[in-house]
Amino acid sequence: MRGFVNVPDSNHYWLAHGRVPLCLLGDNVTLEPIANLRVFPHQEDLVDVDVEVKGGEIATIAPPGTTDFDNKPVVNLQQGLIWPCFVDMHTHLDKGHIWPRCPNPDGTFAKALETVRNDHSNWHADELYQRMEFGLKCSYAHGTQAIRTHLDSFGPLGKTNFEVFDQLRRQWAERLTLQAVCLVSLDYFLTPEADPLAQLVAEFGGILGGVTYMNNELVAQLDQVFTLAKRYGLDLDFHTDESLNPDDITLRYVAEAALRHDFQGTITCGHCCSLSVQSADVVEKTLTLVKAANIGIVSLPMCNLYLQDRQITHTPRYRGVTLLHEIHQREIPVALASDNCRDPFYAYGDHDGLDVFKQSVRIGHLDRPFDHWPRSLTNKPAQLMGLSLGTLASGHPANLICFQARTLNELVARGQDDRVVIRQGQPIDTKLPDYRELDILF
Ligand SMILES: [Zn+2]
Repeated sequence: MRGFVNVPDSNHYWLAHGRVPLCLLGDNVTLEPIANLRVFPHQEDLVDVDVEVKGGEIATIAPPGTTDFDNKPVVNLQQGLIWPCFVDMHTHLDKGHIWPRCPNPDGTFAKALETVRNDHSNWHADELYQRMEFGLKCSYAHGTQAIRTHLDSFGPLGKTNFEVFDQLRRQWAERLTLQAVCLVSLDYFLTPEADPLAQLVAEFGGILGGVTYMNNELVAQLDQVFTLAKRYGLDLDFHTDESLNPDDITLRYVAEAALRHDFQGTITCGHCCSLSVQSADVVEKTLTLVKAANIGIVSLPMCNLYLQDRQITHTPRYRGVTLLHEIHQREIPVALASDNCRDPFYAYGDHDGLDVFKQSVRIGHLDRPFDHWPRSLTNKPAQLMGLSLGTLASGHPANLICFQARTLNELVARGQDDRVVIRQGQPIDTKLPDYRELDILF
């Protein structure tokens, strides 16, 4: 896909007359937002900038008209937006793109679990490698710079999955920062396989994780997870309460376990759908503990819309998206991510951070005002992943996306397929891989 402007193949040039959402500027940049877009009813905090790119880094961020560009090449963005590259902190690259082989027969969560489990017999190293890499290619072309993926890890599949992931991590090291989390249901942690799994995760520099379900042994399961995380120095990332059952409060159990164990690592909890159907008292009690336990939340709105409240011949009423605004209001970090892609948990998607942002804006009313929400696909997930990425400041790598859109309204309204992705100062090929590459697998 051809970009809307040509960025020179040079190691020193200027991106002139661009605009950046105020929340995406680093702390060391102080520029005034554009006054007339700031006020009601627009409510967009945008800053006019000229950006100097030199030696693969952002050298300068300056107000337009304050520099003579020093005879270097100049790209006139004509008020087009500049974003840092996306950080997609919750994906399932190992499940990605199996849809042609095993579609979800009825679109429910239960059938998604069953269908994927039945497909595991097809997940050989070469097969996994091709699908995972296809996902990386899509993600990279759309402008992502870092990805965290969960990896199904029951039995011998865990080792295969982590080995394939590690091979790709090394091969893509110059292009993508990759992290992996093991994924099992939490009952697995009360079996003899728990310690070897934590060792495997530690060996590959991964994150310990799993799916929490309400059950009589949940406290014991969590105690074992936290004990292993401390033993091997691992961060934690859970799938919690991906349901519309108001009695599902495993997020609260995770927070209590974190406090009980005085856990000092990073904890992320994904989904938290049941918060959307709980009483204010129940929500308050849980979020107070989440805040105290320093847990970050990642919401996966597209997957929730696909799976939650799905019944044949029934129009969904409850969409399962967690309480984005309320969580943020309590100063709990909340990120957005893509989750599954073309598998039984979500039939669609293309590993595109912008698609996640656009859909989330509409689903969660993240536009009155847009305010800090552009950070939910950039800086917020980067912080939860322990990465210094996701803002624009001098000295940072020039990992940028330039859009023709001049406002967030224009950004969300259109596809932005002509975006220009710049990595370490150089424009990349944003052509997406052809689905036909995968036909050999099906
Ligand atoms: Zn997930």
